[in-house]
Amino acid sequence: MTNVEMQNLRNKLDARRRDLLAVLDNREDLYIERQADSIDEIVEASSRDFAVMRINRNARSLRDIEAAIDRVDDGTYGMCGDCEEPISPRRLAAIPWATLCVRCQENADRRGEHQHGHTPFEDDVLMAA
Ligand SMILES: [Zn+2]
Repeated sequence: MTNVEMQNLRNKLDARRRDLLAVLDNREDLYIERQADSIDEIVEASSRDFAVMRINRNARSLRDIEAAIDRVDDGTYGMCGDCEEPISPRRLAAIPWATLCVRCQENADRRGEHQHGHTPFEDDVLMAA
């Protein structure tokens, strides 16, 4: 990767990081007023769960992006964190903050690690399975 490509990548990661920080700062949807009606309570609870899930997901993305920025800075960007082989440029173009090559990511997914967007309930099911 050339210096210019590296700088573009760095800018892209920084921009994404700023977006996520702005979203994570904006958490009022967690503080939904309690309603007396029970159906409203269910709707409210699930939209709050959804908001929490979204925040967790964003917080995880932010961690991935900050880790990618660190890797750009220390020159290890684009190497798989598991097998230390280079991650394919196509994968990095699609997911600039990818930490694992496709093969290691698939292995991690099978082990139940690095999953995105699943709920704690699904975690319990996976543990029980
Ligand atoms: Zn790998």
